[in-house]
Amino acid sequence: MQGPVSLRHALSRQWRAIRELHRVSPSFFPFLTLKCLVKALTPYLTVFFAAQVLKELATLRRPETLGFWALFSVLSLGLTSLGNAVFARHIETLTNDLWGRKGILFVQKMFALDFSEIDNPETRDLRTQIQQSESWSGWGLMRALEVYENGVTGVWGLLSGALLSIGLFTSTVPETSGAFQLLNHPVFVLVLAAVMVGMSVLAGKCSAAFTEQWSAVNAAATFGNRLFGHFGFIGMDEKRSVDIRMNHQQELIAAYWQTNTTFGAEGPVGQLARGKMGIEKSLSVCLTTLITGFLYVFTCLKAWGGAFDVGSITQYVGAATAMVNNIFALTDLVGTMRANSIYLDKTFAFLDLPEARDQGSLTLASEEMKHEVEFQDVSFHYPGSDVWALRHVTLTLPAGERIAIVGENGSGKTTFIKLLCRLYEPQEGRILLDGRDIRDYRYNAYMDLLSVVFQDFQLIAQPLGDNVAGSRSYDRKRVYDCLVKAGFGERLMQMKQGLDTVIYKELCEEGVDVSGGEAQKIAIARALYKDAPFIILDEPTAALDPIAEAEIYEKFNEMVGDKTAIYISHRLSSCKFCDTILVFDEGRVIQQGSHDALVHETQGKYYALWHAQAQYYTNE
Ligand code: ADP
Repeated sequence: MQGPVSLRHALSRQWRAIRELHRVSPSFFPFLTLKCLVKALTPYLTVFFAAQVLKELATLRRPETLGFWALFSVLSLGLTSLGNAVFARHIETLTNDLWGRKGILFVQKMFALDFSEIDNPETRDLRTQIQQSESWSGWGLMRALEVYENGVTGVWGLLSGALLSIGLFTSTVPETSGAFQLLNHPVFVLVLAAVMVGMSVLAGKCSAAFTEQWSAVNAAATFGNRLFGHFGFIGMDEKRSVDIRMNHQQELIAAYWQTNTTFGAEGPVGQLARGKMGIEKSLSVCLTTLITGFLYVFTCLKAWGGAFDVGSITQYVGAATAMVNNIFALTDLVGTMRANSIYLDKTFAFLDLPEARDQGSLTLASEEMKHEVEFQDVSFHYPGSDVWALRHVTLTLPAGERIAIVGENGSGKTTFIKLLCRLYEPQEGRILLDGRDIRDYRYNAYMDLLSVVFQDFQLIAQPLGDNVAGSRSYDRKRVYDCLVKAGFGERLMQMKQGLDTVIYKELCEEGVDVSGGEAQKIAIARALYKDAPFIILDEPTAALDPIAEAEIYEKFNEMVGDKTAIYISHRLSSCKFCDTILVFDEGRVIQQGSHDALVHETQGKYYALWHAQAQYYTNE
C-alpha cells in the first residue's frame, strides 16, 4: 500500500509536467495564464459594478452617475466576455494541438529507448498503464493543465476577492447601533475570518480526499479498461473476428465481457461512490453552503447596524463568497495534485528510461568500409529468461566476407544478429569492432554501419520511394536502381505513380497492396540504398517464390559488392557460395568453414542438415 504523497512531491511532479508540456508547445502557457487572469477577474467586475449602481440607486440617484456606472458595467462585461470567448477558442485549439505533441513525446521516447527496454514486459506494462490512465479520465501529463489553470485562477481570484471584501471586515458599525457594536470587535472579526477560512479549507480537504480516492481504484479501473479495450473491439479485429465467427465463440466473448464489472453499480468504483467518496463529497458541499450562509448573515447584520449601505452588501457578499470559493478550490487542487502525482510518477519513470543514444562516444570515419567484427566468448539470455540463447560464442567476421548462418529453429541465429545490432548487450563476453568494444562507439555512428533486413521487417504505409530511402527527400535514380537490383523492377514498371506510389491501403485509398515476396524485395532494396559496410539478411528469401529466390542469389554478389554480408538461411543450397558457414546449435557455434569442407564432415551437423534437405527434394 502506497503511503500518502507529500505536497512537495506533488508540486514538483506537476511542475515538471508543466515544463515538459511547455517544451513541446511554448505558446500554450502564456495564453493559458492570460485566460486565467481574465476568467478570475470576470465575477469581481460584475460584483463591483452592480454594487456601484445599487449604491447610487439607494442614495443620491443621480442619472449621470448611474449612466456612467451602467456604461462601464456593460463595457467591462462585454470586453471580459469577449476576452473569455477569444481565449477559450484559442486555448481549445492549442489544447488539441498539445494532445498531439504530447503523443509525439511518447513516440519519440519509444524510438529512443534502449531496445531491451521495448522488449521488457515491465516497460510495456508501464506504457499501457500510462495510456490507460490518460484515456480513463485524463490522469497524467494533461491533468497538469487543469492544475495550472485552477492554480493560477485560484490565487488570482483569492487576491482580488480579498481586495474587494476587505471593507467587509474593516468598516465599523456606528456607536449608536447598540449591540451591533460587537461586530466591530477585533476578536470577533478575527474569529469569524478564521472560522470561515478553516471551514473553506476543510471543505476543500473533503473534496480533495474524494479526488484522491480514485487512486484506490486505479488498479481495478486500469484492468477494467484493459478488458474493455480488448473484448470491446475484438469484433473489429479482422483476423480475430473471422476466427471467433468460425468457431462460434461470440457467446464466450460476451461472457468474458460481462466479467468486467469494475464500473458497474456493484463494482469497486460504484462501492466507493456510495461509501467514502459519497460522504466526503456531501460534507464538502454542506460546508461550502454553510459558509455562504454565514457570510450573508454577517454582511446583512453589519449593513443593518449601519456599517455600509445596501450596494456594498452585493459587493461584499459576492467578493467574500468568491474568495471562500477560491480557498476551497485551491485546497481541493492539492488533492488533485496528490492523486495526479501517482500517475505522473509512472509517466516520468517511462520518460526517464535509459536511451540508446546515450551510449558510447567513439566516432567512425564514414568513408571507411572495411571493418572487422569479433565475438569474444559471448553469452546471452533474454531479460526474464534463464535459458542461454547464446553460449560461449567466439568467432571473427572478417571484412568483405560472405558469411552464412545456419542451424535449426531456436539455435540462436537471430539472437546472434540482434547482439551484433546492439539491440541487446551480452551478459558475458564482448563484441569488438576493429578491436574496440562496440558499446564504446556512438550508437548512431555504429548503426550507420549496418543495413539489416529482419524476417519480420516492416514497411510503412507511405510512398514506395520514402520507404526505400527512409526519408522524404532522396536520390530517385539510386532508389530506382536498388529496387531493380532487388528484383522489384518489373512490378515498379506497373505502378503508375512509380516511386510515389503509396504502398498498402491503410492510410490511402489509392494505396497499392504488395505481396509478401514483393514487400521483401522492397526491404532488400532499402538495405541496399543504405549502402552500409555490413549487409545483414535474416531469411532474406523466405517469402519469395523459387524463381525470385534464384534471381536474388544470381545477383547477390553484384548487390553486396565488397561489403561484409551476413545472412541466415534455411535453404542450405543458397549458402554454397559463401566464404564461411557458421553452424549454430543450442546457442553455440558448433562448426565453421566453407561448404566444401563442412559437407565432408560426415559426423557434423551441417552434413546432417544438408542431407536432410537433399532427401526432402529427392523425395519430392
Ligand atoms: P533462431 O533464430 O535460430 O530460430 P533465436 O535466436 O530466435 O533462434 O532464439 C534462440 C533462443 O532464444 C530460443 O530458445 C528462443 O526461444 C529464445 N528467444 C528468442 N527470442 C526471445 C525473446 N524475445 N525472449 C525470450 N526468449 C527468446
